[in-house]
Amino acid sequence: MLISTKEMLKKAQEETRAVAAFNTYSLETVQAAISSAEKEEQPVIIALGERYFPTVDVEGFAAMVKAMAHKAAIPVALHLDHAYEKDSIIRAIKNGFTSVMYDGSKYPLKENIKRTKEIVDIAHMEGVSVEAEIGSMAKGAYSDEEEGDGTLTDPLLANEFVKATNIDFLAAAIGTVHGMYQGEPNIDLERLQQIHELVNIPLVLHGGSGTPDEKIVETINHGICKINVNTEISVAAVTFLKSAFDDEFKDDPMPHLSNINRVMQQKMEKAMQRFVRLFSNEKQAVC
Ligand SMILES: [Zn+2]
Repeated sequence: MLISTKEMLKKAQEETRAVAAFNTYSLETVQAAISSAEKEEQPVIIALGERYFPTVDVEGFAAMVKAMAHKAAIPVALHLDHAYEKDSIIRAIKNGFTSVMYDGSKYPLKENIKRTKEIVDIAHMEGVSVEAEIGSMAKGAYSDEEEGDGTLTDPLLANEFVKATNIDFLAAAIGTVHGMYQGEPNIDLERLQQIHELVNIPLVLHGGSGTPDEKIVETINHGICKINVNTEISVAAVTFLKSAFDDEFKDDPMPHLSNINRVMQQKMEKAMQRFVRLFSNEKQAVC
């Protein structure tokens, strides 16, 4: 069933585990995400980024996710990822998204606070929770996200930001990147711990793709309750597509698209299931 993202992450916070937030943009990505979470008996967040609004029918997408969530064996939340425009936030709220991320991280702190607070006031009136970010994520390989300057989150400013805006979840920049790493990841756990000590709302890690498993577990043990994954799932699907005609479908001169979609979904589901299991932090099934 579809549940409030806030409720989902509060429970995760109490149990020191994280919920996977998969970037989705098609029937297959949503099916793979829900199915992977069902297999692991863990909740899941279906995330749609504002950047996909021009190509994804938002109303149709939301209706589809809500219908699938209704019959899912696990709790599902529907989240708007990285929104820069107020209109996108309002559109998501109107369509039953359970949380939205407003990304004002490119603005100076004062302006970010003002803009974020306005979104929080609108969203909270409708019972929708809000994620926001200070600091800025750098961009790695194969990413489909905006480039940030890589400024890490200042723990004191994070605390000030949370208090001034009344947001529900904080995305902290601690050295992960959007996309795959081009070198050794340098994740600042000490900084995360300082933020965790000052800020008691659930913390969000962007850039889950390609981060070593042991680092992921450490971030969860330091307060991360939601981890966004996008690139690595796309890489799993595209790696399959690149070799499909020499491999799985080599004996078929014109494989049907439905068959290609089916196998592609299996590849994504397998990659997603690995993340869901890792993020559960070896806890018992929670659903
Ligand atoms: Zn992100």
